[in-house]
Amino acid sequence: MVCITEAHPWGIRTPLYQNEALSSWLIRAALDCGCDPLSLTGILWPKWRPWTLDIDQGLSQEYSKILVSVTSITQDQFDAATFKDLYLHNSEVSFKSWILALGAKNRKHKGGWQYCPKCLQEDSNAYFRLNWRCIWHVGCTKHDQRLLDQCPYCHSAIQPRLLEAPDRVIYCCAICKKHLFDEKEYPIDHNALAFQEDFDLFLKQGYAFYTDVLISIPEWLKVIQLFNQLIRKVLTGSLDSRGWKFLHELGITVPHNQLISTGLVLNQLSVLERERIFSCIYQLLNISHEQFVETACSLNMTRASFWDKRYQLPTSLLTIEKRLGTVSRGYSSLKVYPHVPKPSNKEAVLRKILRLKRKIL
Ligand SMILES: [Zn+2]
Ligand SMILES: [Zn+2]
Repeated sequence: MVCITEAHPWGIRTPLYQNEALSSWLIRAALDCGCDPLSLTGILWPKWRPWTLDIDQGLSQEYSKILVSVTSITQDQFDAATFKDLYLHNSEVSFKSWILALGAKNRKHKGGWQYCPKCLQEDSNAYFRLNWRCIWHVGCTKHDQRLLDQCPYCHSAIQPRLLEAPDRVIYCCAICKKHLFDEKEYPIDHNALAFQEDFDLFLKQGYAFYTDVLISIPEWLKVIQLFNQLIRKVLTGSLDSRGWKFLHELGITVPHNQLISTGLVLNQLSVLERERIFSCIYQLLNISHEQFVETACSLNMTRASFWDKRYQLPTSLLTIEKRLGTVSRGYSSLKVYPHVPKPSNKEAVLRKILRLKRKIL
């Protein structure tokens, strides 16, 4: 009798948990086999270097069928451990920008992973959740606390792909080798957590609500992007600016008031910066257009006070645009004046340093 399928000399028995990220499973599988993640992937895919990429974004069939052949896990289960389905179901939106960027340089990375220390500690077999990679995930709803995006001891980015066989467990910091558990409480802003829950719910049901109107996910995301611009414009302004007065008049509370904005794109921001922005966005989403416009007018604010002139507002925000006036029409998107550098204030310089540090360290 001839066997037409090649019998594999060994198999991986590490189970894949619900909502576990593929990279987390692969790292655990390597440690369970008593080897480094790099060694295991070298055997599985000798001509491919997955750790220089972000495999949670999705694995092509060519590579995933090798995993299927050495485990009892199905192709669908592996796909569910990546963002493949999220991208497929929301093809009109570039969802990649809603997933934390690793900032990878070779196998090292500067960010992209976050976790709840209490979830890891309570797991009978600790693993990293796929949704901890989403930018809108800033807290743990089970433990009602903020996620951590760095080791609580050495403050390095969480990089389990750098773990080695002697480390044995995924909850070990790859840099200082301490366990990532932490008994400390990290209180989460409840508006940011409510935003996270709404975001998850809208994605699950396939539609969103804004001002009691049912809208599509792409439209809702446009509103979020525009509010993100508005909030970030305010946060970089001085505390006595009209933008801050606007938030104050509307009763919007800003967590981590003293935190300096780095100005990086959303998927490169620290969990603290995202918590602050999403908290403000959630509060803005619950302000009526009437109240928005009245407050803006009382402070002599126009559309240009909130948004860059070149951005087109989504349909859901057109009532605000119409009532704020059209002072921005007739502009040129290119600067016609020669560029004359102005002296930077202290906060702007600090912001630049923080941004640079996050990019190069
Ligand atoms: Zn938790
Ligand atoms: Zn550490």
